Amino acid sequence: MSHPTDPSCIFCKIVAGQVPSFKLMEDEATVAFMDINPVNPGHALAVAKGHWPTVDVVPPEVLAAVAKTAQRIAKAAMKELKPAGVNLVQANGEGAGQSVPHLHIHIMPRRPGDDVSLNWEPKPGDMAGIKAVYEKLKAAL
Ligand code: AMP
Ligand code: ZN
Repeated sequence: MSHPTDPSCIFCKIVAGQVPSFKLMEDEATVAFMDINPVNPGHALAVAKGHWPTVDVVPPEVLAAVAKTAQRIAKAAMKELKPAGVNLVQANGEGAGQSVPHLHIHIMPRRPGDDVSLNWEPKPGDMAGIKAVYEKLKAAL
């Protein structure tokens, strides 16, 4: 299957086999491999084979394929590594912490007391504020 590529992109190079990786699996639309800067043991990435930077531009069927691959890796991690939990994380844009602009889902096994800063304490919101944004967002669908 043909897909867009960016010759300067590190994940495109991994997909093409030009840069080595600890490849876990691949299928027609996706590849999964180990993250080389793991937040915890077992941290892996599920990536699209094609170069689409973010969730708003990736074809929905490719996003679904990446999610399916992330699920497969998460199941293997849960079974084999028995972490306290697993986070699936997908960043879009620098403001969200995205450092590689090639769509990917992190599979992050969690351990008690790790310092991965993903979790927050819920605080009650202002209903008028929620409603105002809700109306804008709903109109944009
Ligand atoms: P993000 O910051 O969400 O864009 O995630 C990019 C991830 O890619 C980071 O966790 C990096 O550690 C990881 N990464 C960057 N280069 C490589 C590489 N060559 N092989 C494996 N993982 C990489
Ligand atoms: Zn790429």
